[in-house]
Amino acid sequence: MLRFILKPDRDKSIRQRHPWVFSGAVARRSGPVHPGETVDIVSSEGVWLARGTASTHSQMIARLWTWQRDEELDPSFIRQRIERAIKGREQLHNDPQTNAYRVIFSESDGLPGLIVDRFADWLVVQLLTQGAVAHTAIIVEALAELMPVRGIYERSDVEIRAREGLGEAEGLLWGEAPPDQLTIRENGYEFVLDLAGGQKTGWYVDQRVNRMRVAQYAKNADVLGVFSYTGGFEVLAAGAGATSITAVDSSAAALRGLHTNLAQNGLHTSVTAVEGDAFKILRQLREEGKQYDLIVLDPPKFAHSQSQIDRATRGYKDINMQAFHLLRPGGVLATFSCSGLISADLFQKVVFGAALDAGRDAQIIETLTQGGDHPVLLTFPEAAYLKGLICRVW
Ligand code: SAH
Repeated sequence: MLRFILKPDRDKSIRQRHPWVFSGAVARRSGPVHPGETVDIVSSEGVWLARGTASTHSQMIARLWTWQRDEELDPSFIRQRIERAIKGREQLHNDPQTNAYRVIFSESDGLPGLIVDRFADWLVVQLLTQGAVAHTAIIVEALAELMPVRGIYERSDVEIRAREGLGEAEGLLWGEAPPDQLTIRENGYEFVLDLAGGQKTGWYVDQRVNRMRVAQYAKNADVLGVFSYTGGFEVLAAGAGATSITAVDSSAAALRGLHTNLAQNGLHTSVTAVEGDAFKILRQLREEGKQYDLIVLDPPKFAHSQSQIDRATRGYKDINMQAFHLLRPGGVLATFSCSGLISADLFQKVVFGAALDAGRDAQIIETLTQGGDHPVLLTFPEAAYLKGLICRVW
């Protein structure tokens, strides 16, 4: 079997079961490397440490799947891991209010590079590493057997695959193709998705719990939802009794989805959909003297690499400052960041700076994170990426 032999003193993180091996830590390889093949990691003293899959392209030349020498990356091992992940979501499988959630979350579920979301009777799979791709057939077979669904659809059309030298891939892997308009349920509300054509996997499952929490503040409120997409937060806010909803997104298709989703739930709240750049629109709303009782800021990932952190923090600060200006005294700001590279601590500092510049007092009343179907493996804190603050603003 292929072996990567580490440089002296580069074994600590691997002994602590961190699943990433960077090329800089490896002294030599026992032979030529093929995409996604199984590799054993060995210390400079020759001690076996862990087993994973190799990448021929990425700086991260191996992802570790097991620290037990007798575990091979074979069908029964992968099946066991998938079973464990499914078992961990038992509450969600049995929840009549929700049928959209994450079933497998990559490293956190011991399956590096594999993401699987359930949307009603379909599974959407993302295979993000050479190691995950190499095991596609086994993964699909196990999923088809262990999850009672009608079809398994691949949406690996994401940029990060380029880091692994993989092109974008999309298409049916098993069973029936999903309909163009698939209705899912979340928190008792219905949403219409286009699994094959939507953004990402067509629905942001990581905000499920937070949508409920934010909706608590929506009764009789004038709500501004910024980066609304198809209305995940806005539909719940309307359902909770909001007086009016203003939704801002740069995508016209997303805003059409918002109208569809409101209608799907029989909600007739007054809605103003504004298509455009949130940074500009927030300023415009302020110039128009608009005021809101609840503002939701749920931007896309601003920081994709270390070098983008400064620019990203300026972006977060700007939208948060604008939001503070737009809130009535006693109003509520629900503000999020899904950039894993921005820590919860840094995010709070950014929001603090924004409140200070806007001259507003703000109190954190709730601290939010990703749903429990996106677990954070204790040995892999990098899995924590979504953070949110709900602030009362005076
Ligand atoms: N809140 C949504 C998810 C938001 S995803 C939910 O709960 O489902 C981020 C959204 O921001 C996407 O819909 C994208 O179209 C939009 N977006 C990205 N850049 C933008 C910009 N500069 N101005 C306005 N919207 C933007």
